[in-house]
Amino acid sequence: MMNIAVFPGSFDPITNGHLDLIRRAIPLFDKIIVAIGVNDQKKSLYSLEQRLSWLEEIFSEDDSISVGNYHGLTVHYCQEVGAKYLLRGLRNTTDYNYEQSISQANSIVGGVETVFLISNPQYSHISSSIVRAIVKGNADASTFVPAVVASTLQSS
Ligand code: ADP
Repeated sequence: MMNIAVFPGSFDPITNGHLDLIRRAIPLFDKIIVAIGVNDQKKSLYSLEQRLSWLEEIFSEDDSISVGNYHGLTVHYCQEVGAKYLLRGLRNTTDYNYEQSISQANSIVGGVETVFLISNPQYSHISSSIVRAIVKGNADASTFVPAVVASTLQSS
């Protein structure tokens, strides 16, 4: 049986922190699905199409990584795609406190285990929300994001 993990997130936009985490998780799973959870109550800065297109371009050469999106519960999406694992990153205790109860609920409700990787120190200051704040303030966020994202940010 394939060991499939879903890495769920908003990826608004994907950052170098996300990318590092995904690359470090490749040896752990047969397949990783990087999936954008669409929450209609939460307004994103970048459209779903834009975020998916960044993910597709970034992982186009990686056979074990695919890209998707879903509405509703993450555990239902895991069941749909046959994933027994969720992948999440921990930058600090704020992340830990937030993730703990979600992970426990996902295990109880959907039988899905969450695998956590601690962020690399050089990426632990990076978040999508900081990137969005830099972009909104008309400053350069290119060191925080993959090249394909940086080039779109610069041209918009
Ligand atoms: P969400 O909207 O679910 O918080 P994000 O796209 O912000 O989604 O993050 C998805 C996952 O990536 C989360 O587990 C988050 O902790 C992790 N993550 C975000 N930034 C980093 C980083 N710089 N280093 C490691 N993990 C990160």
